[in-house]
Amino acid sequence: MEFAERVHAVEPAAPFVISNLVSELEEQEDADIVDLSVGQPDVETPQHVIDATKDALDAGHTTYTPSNGLLSLRESIAGYLQDRFDLDYGPENIIATPGGKHALYETLQAIVDPGDEVIVIDPVWSSYEPMVKLAGGEAVHVGTAPYDFQLEPALDDLEAAVSDDTALIMLNSPNNPSGMVFSEAAFEGVRDIAVEYDLPVLSDEIYAELLYGDKEQRSLATYDGMMERTITINGFSKTFSMTGYRLGFMAAPTDHTTQAGKVHSHSVSCASNFVQRAGIEALENTDIDAFTGDMMETFEARRDLLVDLLEERDINVMVPEGAFYVMFEIDSDDDMEYCKDAVREAGVGLVPGQAFNTPGYVRASLVETESRIQEGIDRLEDAGFL
Ligand code: PLP
Repeated sequence: MEFAERVHAVEPAAPFVISNLVSELEEQEDADIVDLSVGQPDVETPQHVIDATKDALDAGHTTYTPSNGLLSLRESIAGYLQDRFDLDYGPENIIATPGGKHALYETLQAIVDPGDEVIVIDPVWSSYEPMVKLAGGEAVHVGTAPYDFQLEPALDDLEAAVSDDTALIMLNSPNNPSGMVFSEAAFEGVRDIAVEYDLPVLSDEIYAELLYGDKEQRSLATYDGMMERTITINGFSKTFSMTGYRLGFMAAPTDHTTQAGKVHSHSVSCASNFVQRAGIEALENTDIDAFTGDMMETFEARRDLLVDLLEERDINVMVPEGAFYVMFEIDSDDDMEYCKDAVREAGVGLVPGQAFNTPGYVRASLVETESRIQEGIDRLEDAGFL
C-alpha cells in the first residue's frame, strides 16, 4: 500500500516506543522492569467515579450524545473552570473530547494551513510537532534548555521566532517533560507577544492542578487581552487519574469551538456517553484539593528522593515545580539507544529527551514507589548507565 506524505513525516509517539518495549519484555520474558516511562499517575480513579460509570452503563447511556458533549457536562466544566481557575467560559465555549490530546489535534486541524508555522517551546511534549505536521504545518522551536527550562529568559527568542507565517503559539505549563511552571512574567511576555502580533495561543493546562508545595499558576486566558485569543486545554486524565477514560476538553472563544467542532463531529462524533457522565461525577463530587493533595504529597516525596539520588551522583537535574516528571542530563550521544538499552540491560524504563526535542536528557515519571525508584537508580548505576 502507498501512504500519505503526512504520515511518513511523523514517527510513532516515542514514550510508547519505550513503554511497548517494557510491556514486551514483561509479557514475553516475565522481566521485572522499574518502569518510569509512562505518563500516568499510579493512583486509582476515585471510586465514586467508577461507580458512576457503572451506573451510567446500567442506565443505558450507551448512545451518541450531542457532538460537543452533554450540556450538563459542558456546564460542569464551565463551573469547574470558573471555580478553580477564575475563567469565564459558558458551555458554548467548550468541546468535550476523547482526551485532551484530541482537543489539541482538533485545534491544530482548525487553525493550521499547509505552510503555516506553529511556535513550540522546547522541551516540547512529544505529540505537538507530529500534530502540527499532520495538519500540514511546520513547528518552529524555541529552546529553554540553556535557561534551566525557564521560559522568561527565552522570551526574546520567542518573539524572534514570530514570522508572517506564524499561525499559533503552543504553551504547556506545568510542563511535560520538565515539570517547570512558567513564571507570571513569562505568561505576561507571551501575552505581550500574542497581542502585539495578533496571534492565538494554545495553553495546555492539563497539569494545572498538579503543583508542588504552594506553587501557583494563573490560567493564561485570565491575562488581559488573552480571553479572546486563548484555547485552554485540560482534561480528566491527570487531575482525576482517569487516563483510560479518554476524556478531556478545550475551552475557547466560540469562533474557535465552531470550527474545531466541525473537525470533532467528523472525526469522533462525540466523547463516549457514559464516560461523559463519569466526568460530571468527577467534577461535581470530588474533593479536588484532597485528591490532588494526596497525589502530590506522594509525588513530592518521590521527586525529592530522585533529585537527591541524582544530585549525589553529580547529575544535572532540574527540580520540577509541577506535574510528575523529572528530567535529567545523561552522558550519551544517543538518548533513544540509551533508553532502549536501559530497559534491556538495567530493567529501567525512561523516555529519551529527543522525544521532546531536547537530546542529551531523559525523563523519569514518578509513578513507582520510593523503594522502586531507589532500585531503579541502583540498577542504572550497576549497569553503568549513571
Ligand atoms: N498534554 C500534555 C502535555 C500531556 O502530557 C498529555 C498526556 O500525557 C496530554 C496533553 C493529553 O492527555 P489526555 O489525552 O490523556 O487527556
